Amino acid sequence: MMYEPVIGLEIHVQLKTKTKMFCGCPTHDSAVAPNEHVCPICLGHPGVLPVVNAQAVRYGVLMGLALNCEIAAHSKFDRKNYFYPDLPKAYQISQYDLPIAIKGHLDIEIPGGARDAARIGITRAHLEEDAAKNLHSGGAATYVDFNRGGTPLIEIVTEPDFRSSQEAKIFLQELRLIARYLGISDADMEKGHLRCDANISLRTVDEQGGIVGARFNPKTEVKNLNSFKHVQSALEYEIRRQTKLWEAGTPPMISTTRGWNDTQNRTQEQRSKEEAADYRYFPEPDVPPLELKNLADELRSQLPELPAVRRARFVSEYNLKPSDARQICDDSVLADFVEHVFSELHAWLIALPELQETDETVLDHEKEKLGRLVSGWLLSKLGGLMADRGIDIRTSKISAENFAEFITLIATRKLNNTAGLTVLNAMLDDGNDPSHIMEDQQLGRMDDESELARLVTQTIESYPAEVARYQAGEEQLLKYLIGMVMKASEGTADPGIIKNMLLVELKSE
Ligand code: ADP
Ligand code: ZN
Ligand code: MG
Repeated sequence: MMYEPVIGLEIHVQLKTKTKMFCGCPTHDSAVAPNEHVCPICLGHPGVLPVVNAQAVRYGVLMGLALNCEIAAHSKFDRKNYFYPDLPKAYQISQYDLPIAIKGHLDIEIPGGARDAARIGITRAHLEEDAAKNLHSGGAATYVDFNRGGTPLIEIVTEPDFRSSQEAKIFLQELRLIARYLGISDADMEKGHLRCDANISLRTVDEQGGIVGARFNPKTEVKNLNSFKHVQSALEYEIRRQTKLWEAGTPPMISTTRGWNDTQNRTQEQRSKEEAADYRYFPEPDVPPLELKNLADELRSQLPELPAVRRARFVSEYNLKPSDARQICDDSVLADFVEHVFSELHAWLIALPELQETDETVLDHEKEKLGRLVSGWLLSKLGGLMADRGIDIRTSKISAENFAEFITLIATRKLNNTAGLTVLNAMLDDGNDPSHIMEDQQLGRMDDESELARLVTQTIESYPAEVARYQAGEEQLLKYLIGMVMKASEGTADPGIIKNMLLVELKSE
């Protein structure tokens, strides 16, 4: 008998609106002192009237659409009643039975996983306001900072469709990226913009993966996970803990709530889960219901290209490897840069006199070569040089035009790799265009044949022992001799040409 994890996530995403969900207070910015961004509405004074933030509704609907949900034509807010110091009204305005979005899905790819891909069902997504923040002083007192209270959130609930902690993590990362592409949240887990409760149970399956016993068993909900690492560690810990219980013949009989203790690297039992009825949900009488049909139609037509589509397009249009396309599209600014580079390069390619009147296959082949050059020079070389300098594509002085020109110089072999690296460094240092730098530093490929021939002859004379060994059959010494000629040319010669010249010279010896 084997145990299969069954995992579902409840995710809160903080929406990047200017003001709070139901009042005009600015949304929390960590730079202000506690309790500066508060008013009678978000402090829950009696007799005040909340007004729905239209931007938050738009953002919520955008997320619902991006998750392939049905947007409710008719939606409303409800009061979720509970008593806690971080909730001055003693209820949270949330959505209960008519959320803005239902029945969606998100497809994820799972590199190296037990399955390659999975479609994760989205049960629902609803809008609500965040609670305030309790600050435990360590002494007897607890302080409450109401700046966060009333910040708009969208809560996304998935079906129990994950089968490993890795799948859960990949989903969260994709969700973060979607929120960023939509511009609705920075979705930074470390800053609390994205928070996750992970639900997990086990079930028994046979060798073929067929479910043997119950389809669903009582689950554990691990609350308030605020980093990808914590999500993964908490789920891994629960899989081990629950497996032991099953093996001992005492599987969990009731659903429980646990917390993640990062110092002890384990989950800990909290309170047992309240029933939904405990919250005594009832319709919020002060906020009118939402009619979303028109808004959904409007926003559907404005939805930007989402990460998965963009990645696929980068593979087909720019001939990038799927892993490179993924790396690039994970940062939309870098992806914009790459789009710009390719649009320059493809325009240049099409205009090349020698490629006029060639057919599509020749052009495709040339585009493929450019794709390889761009990903090689961008991701490994430029990426490395920027990392060394502690900068990224946002702060670097390299423009897409200059980088595209640089690639054309490499593609036409006007620059070899060694000189290319020097030019790239100089481009990073002063933002100049590459042909300028080449002229300045005299880095152009040496194509003076007689000068090259001289260097080749000179090298053959300087290394008689190596030449003799090469001619006696040690073929790997050719590389060494090529390197010596390159060195003599201070890196400006073309290794391919040197190789040919050496082969001719060494034969005729
Ligand atoms: P609750 O009544 O405890 O709020 P819900 O049915 O609303 O539970 O589901 C909350 C989350 O728990 C969802 O993400 C759902 O996919 C997940 N979930 C539900 N049942 C299970 C289960 N047996 N094992 C793991 N996760 C589950
Ligand atoms: Zn307020
Ligand atoms: Mg629930």
